[in-house]
Amino acid sequence: MRKKDFKYIYGPVSSWRLGVSLGIDLFSSSKKICSFNCIYCQLGSTTRFTKKPGVYVPTQKIIEELEQLPKIKIDYITFSGRGESSLAKNLAEATKAVKKLKIAPVAILTNSSLIDQAEIRKNLSFADFVIAKLDSYSQESLEKINQPAKAIKFRKIIQGIKQFKKDFKGKFALQIMFTEENQGDVETLAKLAREINPDQIQINTPTRPCKVRRLSREAITRVKKYFAGLNFISVYDARPKKVVAFSKKETLIRRGKVI
Ligand code: SF4
Repeated sequence: MRKKDFKYIYGPVSSWRLGVSLGIDLFSSSKKICSFNCIYCQLGSTTRFTKKPGVYVPTQKIIEELEQLPKIKIDYITFSGRGESSLAKNLAEATKAVKKLKIAPVAILTNSSLIDQAEIRKNLSFADFVIAKLDSYSQESLEKINQPAKAIKFRKIIQGIKQFKKDFKGKFALQIMFTEENQGDVETLAKLAREINPDQIQINTPTRPCKVRRLSREAITRVKKYFAGLNFISVYDARPKKVVAFSKKETLIRRGKVI
């Protein structure tokens, strides 16, 4: 297998929060599969809306590609891509299998929508680093920013995040995407973040083309003040590393173009 023929792994990319990150896409579907339809999603609108986990890419296919990986320095292998990670039924199996290869620590990006379910929390718990989304502070703001599938409740998400933080032995971060639509909620979001007390808070704003406008560097500097005393990083403070992706096309399909 030539490295540009990889179908399920993409990158490596320079990630502002993970360093050199090699992506694994457990969906690899032409249509994004998600339980949210975030207003800022770089992958466009969600057309395969679901909250029912399924197997989209068998674990063995991922392992076969990783076994062909050339020797390169990677900081994290990251489950992300064209869908919400926790909707992959084989997430725990795949995480364990990838860790056995001892290439790099494993990170999972999740939108937190199903984290109230004990089975989902267990599936996430095999990673070294879990990064959970929190852009809203109420059911109303969840519906405005993340536009979730039916029956996804903000109250349950918060309960699930708090429970996961309590039980998880690895590193746990909250990622908060700020746009003009929720920058006014920063005080409440910072209060929630203090209650959850993650190991890290990732303050983000869209850097790839999407339907909403990103916040300026100055606006993010104002946002950061509310998180004073907490361990946070922000997208504007990142120092990108020079990394060449195996296949630019496959990487672009998963991440969109940085502007
Ligand atoms: S959770 Fe991620 S993939 Fe799903 S709609 Fe939001 S940004 Fe897009």
